[in-house]
Amino acid sequence: MFDALVVNKDEDGKTSAAVTQLGLDDLPNGDVVVAVEYSTVNYKDGLCIGPGGGLVRNYPHIPGIDFAGTVESSDDARYKPGDKVVLTGWRVGEAHWGGYAQKARVRADWLVPLPAGLDTRQAMAVGTAGFTAMLAVMALEDHGIKKGPVLVTGAAGGVGSVATAILANLGHQVAGVTGRPETADYLKSLGATQIVAREEINETVKRPLEGETWGGCVDAVGGAMLARVLGQMEYGASVAAVGLAGGAALPATVIPFLLRGVNLLGIDSVMQPYNNRVRAWDRIAKDLPMDKLEAMVQPATLSDLPKLGADILNGQVKGRVVVDVN
Ligand code: NDP
Repeated sequence: MFDALVVNKDEDGKTSAAVTQLGLDDLPNGDVVVAVEYSTVNYKDGLCIGPGGGLVRNYPHIPGIDFAGTVESSDDARYKPGDKVVLTGWRVGEAHWGGYAQKARVRADWLVPLPAGLDTRQAMAVGTAGFTAMLAVMALEDHGIKKGPVLVTGAAGGVGSVATAILANLGHQVAGVTGRPETADYLKSLGATQIVAREEINETVKRPLEGETWGGCVDAVGGAMLARVLGQMEYGASVAAVGLAGGAALPATVIPFLLRGVNLLGIDSVMQPYNNRVRAWDRIAKDLPMDKLEAMVQPATLSDLPKLGADILNGQVKGRVVVDVN
């Protein structure tokens, strides 16, 4: 028997989450059983612990869109008992049972071997948020980062914190946009050289082009902020669009694309091909300083998750939550 955070839905459509004991026979089909060691809390997890946000189809459900652990048994030649693995994406924790459990049975195709230099706790301190931040940085690099500071929006959140630390470690000036002024020292400790108040950049676009300020941008916020940022990019610079913490609408004009050659790069972590996953995890092991990662970590257990799920939906989680499921 093992513990899992199970979400149930009652006849009135109301969901409730509680730590419950399950057996291996309760787990869905798959070719690898993983003894989960750590998971984490992402915005999507907040949705799936609560009413689901349309992501969860069947109940009872185990959320947790990412986890790291040790292979316990495997029917796939690529993995054997004792291998350390990490899983993000593939709709695990949404359409499939996820990482908020001491055991998970999944498809071997979804796993990535833990890169040398990272343990399972560090892998989940990175988690989907940090993995996505690395994908965003790689996309910016592939298109060329320009002279000015790189802007990171939603900087004190999970994606923003990891993006800030990686970019600073790579030698870039980093400007962090935050709505929480009390996180300024934290962001500077991660390497931000400039703090931009959310109100300064949150307004609807009035002029399609403003001064050429940013050499690149990792955007976790979307909405009016992303629209505004597009008009502030340097000539030929790129914005990696990662998130929608501030809204899914994009009230922008096409002028920054046409007159400044600005690039808007879409970042998806869920269906990312295997080779690029391996590349991103290797880069994380190399380019994310582990002391900075540790400074982002807030520890938690399975029973803390209902509250943390609500907190992340309210933009109240700082940095990265690491859930020790044991
Ligand atoms: P967090 O909640 O940790 O961070 C989001 C941050 O955005 C907050 O900390 C806050 O930063 C800022 N923010 C929140 N609400 C608003 C608002 N109304 N207006 C402006 N800023 C706001 O989430 P994550 O970092 O884990 O994820 C960030 C986004 O990226 C989410 O939308 C998530 O769904 C998405 N995502 C997408 C992935 C992909 O594959 N494309 C993968 C992972 C995440 P501050 O307090 O500093 O202002």
